[in-house]
Amino acid sequence: MISFSRFYDMDHKIMAKILLVDDNPTNIQVLQYALSSEQHELYQSKNGIIALEMAKQIHPDLILLDVIMPGLDGFEVCRKLKMDITTADIIVIFVSSRHEEIDKLNGLELGAADYITKPFSIDELVARVRVHLQLREKQVLLQEHRLQDQEYFRRINDIKVDVINQIKHDLKQPITSILTNTYVIQKHFSSGNTALELCLHRIELATNEILQMVDNLLEVVKLETGRAITKQPVQVWQFITDIVALFEPVAAAKSIALHCDLSAISANESVEFDRIQMRRVIENLIGNAIKFNVANGSVNLHVWLTEVNMMIEVSDTGRGIPSADLDKIFQRFYRVSDESDYAEGTGLGLYIVKSIVEQHGGTISVESKPREGSRFSITIPNM
Ligand code: ADP
Repeated sequence: MISFSRFYDMDHKIMAKILLVDDNPTNIQVLQYALSSEQHELYQSKNGIIALEMAKQIHPDLILLDVIMPGLDGFEVCRKLKMDITTADIIVIFVSSRHEEIDKLNGLELGAADYITKPFSIDELVARVRVHLQLREKQVLLQEHRLQDQEYFRRINDIKVDVINQIKHDLKQPITSILTNTYVIQKHFSSGNTALELCLHRIELATNEILQMVDNLLEVVKLETGRAITKQPVQVWQFITDIVALFEPVAAAKSIALHCDLSAISANESVEFDRIQMRRVIENLIGNAIKFNVANGSVNLHVWLTEVNMMIEVSDTGRGIPSADLDKIFQRFYRVSDESDYAEGTGLGLYIVKSIVEQHGGTISVESKPREGSRFSITIPNM
């Protein structure tokens, strides 16, 4: 973070803290005289070591630094200033009788803002000091604006999360009412009336989709606002087995065989990850593998551990994904075209999956062949 003691005199000229460092008192007097037309607060040091101490204590905005001094020379002082985080932002201008090109380059490479050779013109020295102070002022203003912007966006994001949470909360009541009444009609009034049963089934699907959509939107906003994941040791075998158990009836209802291979994992092996988020990842992949499958197809989940990673593979014998869409399916709201009447969805699932995997420092890839099936592979670091 750049700091700057910004004050102005009556003519709105910047008043800064300036440290003058030169082993020759006459040179210091010349510098003092040169800057006497400005309203700066001047400090002085005849020696590099003391100059470093003063830099730490008074934190000047700018140092006019001689190069040739006994003990610690100006280059060494500058190097030390730039290496110390508390003094690195101080503007250093060398003022030296060494006027070789190589000296100037050395000084600038050490992080100095400028290099003025002696003898110098007073007007030029004052002008250069003024320019560097003005530049610093602009930098500080930019930094302040950036911080204000970050704060502004953080507040907007908080509002987004609140609004979506509120919508979700407000929708719950009417949606529960729709689902309950649909269930009552299904149970008591629709038997034998296939057209009505179909309508009610569609109402149920659409209503659940609304809930899913709001849930996904909320998740996206939270992921995009950089909400941190919370890692904890999770026993992988039990974790996966529980998720698969949830999907067995769903797969069976669509005549899809769901296989899970955990043979390479023993029951007590743990990996550190965010349990809730990783559950979301696996549920999404299995859900898609069932949703985009064909009758009598199959879904295979294979999880194993290497020395450094947890590997998850979800493959299916479904309709596959055209190669032109493969790199797009992880984008927000992307759905493969002409499928709107094929399966419900929001196009947010894989975007969320990828974000969660990446927040764990992992990777996700997909291979697919149209009409043959797809395989999603995830790697999560296990360290
Ligand atoms: P949604 O399922 O809500 O549409 P996703 O982000 O999960 O959104 O998936 C994006 C798109 O990728 C899907 O609409 C679908 O076209 C395609 N897709 C995802 N998984 C599979 C799969 N296992 N088989 C075929 N297509 C898939």
